[in-house]
Amino acid sequence: MQNLLKNLVVRPGARIKLRNIDPGYHGHHESHQEAMADIQSHIQKMDKLQYLMYAERKHSLLIVLQGLDAGGKDGVIRHILTGMNPAGCRVTGFKQPTPEELAHDFLWRVHPHAPEKGEVAIFNRSHYEDVLVVRVHKLAPPAVWSKRYDLINNFEKQLVVENNTAILKFFLYISKEEQLARFKQRLDDPARRWKISAADYKERKYWDDYIEAFEEMLRKTSTKHAPWYVIPSNHKWFRDLAVSHVINRALEDLNMKLPKPTVNIADIRRQYHQAEAMAKAS
Ligand code: AMP
Ligand code: MG
Repeated sequence: MQNLLKNLVVRPGARIKLRNIDPGYHGHHESHQEAMADIQSHIQKMDKLQYLMYAERKHSLLIVLQGLDAGGKDGVIRHILTGMNPAGCRVTGFKQPTPEELAHDFLWRVHPHAPEKGEVAIFNRSHYEDVLVVRVHKLAPPAVWSKRYDLINNFEKQLVVENNTAILKFFLYISKEEQLARFKQRLDDPARRWKISAADYKERKYWDDYIEAFEEMLRKTSTKHAPWYVIPSNHKWFRDLAVSHVINRALEDLNMKLPKPTVNIADIRRQYHQAEAMAKAS
């Protein structure tokens, strides 16, 4: 598992060629069944670590999810939340900007959703759309979006330095064939039809442009303080396992501790015994 992290993380400045990465990669487990015990223990560990974060209220965690349509962003969120207390988590989805949002700088709508101390924030899409969809569909000229990589790095640095935020960014990478297979499932399974968007097939035509935009994003915005991880995501179980592994390692590195009680425990114990004696007497 240790090597896994090294394989998935994008070193700052590295020129990742996605065609050299196998989206069907699934580590040393052969099947979901075989990975089940590991998946469960990751979830339990994540639950404990998030409990610590919530109690300590010194650090926060921002998880950014990006990927192609049907890449599994929703699935990852569901998985992560099975290992966390929702009271300490916040999920934000970023859709097409409203006219008000468009009238501001692109980070304006993002900052209010950054996590407060003790909290885990998950972004389903993010400020990265402003160098992805905006670039691919020419919603802004290159002179505008090309400046955003530095702006994003500075913004993320600010969250790290000012608010002890750990930032983990996951690019969920599926193959073009797997996307089509998932579109078919959406068509065939009545329970999934609501997910179908007319834009799905239109966006698929821009696959190569998106890959190029993702590659530049990975090269320019994977930093020491906010690294990108490329997650092979054709196998949903491996995707979930890899993401929870990365999250646990990052949370462990924070060396969090339960805070000391704010009350005098000896005093409270005395009060407890008094109350217990009174309850027995009555
Ligand atoms: P979904 O995540 O499937 O609900 O779709 C949300 C849509 O909003 C996607 O097509 C995104 O590309 C689009 N979107 C998100 N952020 C932006 C943005 N900053 N500019 C333009 N479109 C965006
Ligand atoms: Mg969609």
